[in-house]
Amino acid sequence: MTVRFLDLHAQYQSISDEIDAAIAGVIRDSAFIGGSYLKSFEENFAAYLGALFCIGVGNGTDAIEIAVEALGLPPGSEILVPANSFIASSEAVTRGGSRVVFCDCDPETYTISVADARRRVTPNTKAIVAVHLYGHPCDMDAVMALAAEHDLYVIEDAAQAHGAKYKGRRVGGIGIVGTFSFYPGKNLGAYGDGGAIVTNDPALAKRCRMIANHGRVEKYNHEFEGRNSRLDGLQAAILDVKLRHLDRWLETRCELARCYLDGLSGVPGIVLPVIAPWAFHVWHLFVVRVDDREGLSAYLTRHGVQTGVHYPISLPHLRAYAHLDTPPLPCSGVIADQLLSLPLGDQLTTDEVRSVCRLIKAYRSESEHIESTAQGISI
Ligand SMILES: *Cc1c(COP(=O)(O)O)cnc(C)c1O
Repeated sequence: MTVRFLDLHAQYQSISDEIDAAIAGVIRDSAFIGGSYLKSFEENFAAYLGALFCIGVGNGTDAIEIAVEALGLPPGSEILVPANSFIASSEAVTRGGSRVVFCDCDPETYTISVADARRRVTPNTKAIVAVHLYGHPCDMDAVMALAAEHDLYVIEDAAQAHGAKYKGRRVGGIGIVGTFSFYPGKNLGAYGDGGAIVTNDPALAKRCRMIANHGRVEKYNHEFEGRNSRLDGLQAAILDVKLRHLDRWLETRCELARCYLDGLSGVPGIVLPVIAPWAFHVWHLFVVRVDDREGLSAYLTRHGVQTGVHYPISLPHLRAYAHLDTPPLPCSGVIADQLLSLPLGDQLTTDEVRSVCRLIKAYRSESEHIESTAQGISI
């Protein structure tokens, strides 16, 4: 048996006619940069999210960086970023011209702890990055309330949360600006790099589009120096096809997640993910916490089950951030050693999930030491 962490080829096979036709169309029309395929996807994705504007960019990291730059913050501005995320969330802040201040995560949802973020606000704090991690939306009412109190911009990093909802509203269009990645492994993935910025603010939308396209208003008329970060026509056409299937794929993910939650409930030494009452969780990743991650993941690998770790080193502990001297963060610092991502994708079957659950239970009953170490998971 092999259970792959993610099977992109199977997904392609399920919609290959539509994808092949879309690619052929872009080539026929030579609509490689800009053009009708990009425009169509930008409009459809904005409508899907309930946002007014969508700007396709080169990747999800650029999306955050351009959004930060477009906010035009004064030098020395600080931006609150959760410690439990992919480095793009913080890297883009620094490159966008601001200073990263890491915050702890919430022990239940693993998204940013707004209580901890509040403690780190200074007179220089100008924005907060709400990362809807693993597909679970942040507590946006709390984020927006903190932002209102201290006059902060809210940047939603929705790279893992296409289609996720906070109290019925799709994430990405709740803060001043939202950013998406279409990295192939994301819930809505291109066949290469891609990203998008969404906003309801017309001036910010215009500025983002100009930054992403050499600061120009029209060809050869540049108002300022920008950069080149564009979603190309092929990727846009592919994404437009896949967007039509996204909700169905998200339903499959939810069904598989329910299957894991049933199959693993009550298994000692395993902490299951929770779904907050406000959340429509889109399960980009199904992340459990285990006391002996290396043992379990090696066991699963031996039995043909691929797993991942998101993320093994909390951001403040990376060498890249040693200079920040972030004080110890009790939750994110500890869970980094326990997180384990189980296979989940729109092409996975409930039978495969059940066999992963059986293997995990078998491992737990085989390993005797669990009784003594299970209470190690206390956060
Ligand atoms: C993938 C990801 C990004 C970056 O997206 P790229 O398209 O790979 O640049 C940013 N933030 C988070 C949380 C991500 O998971």
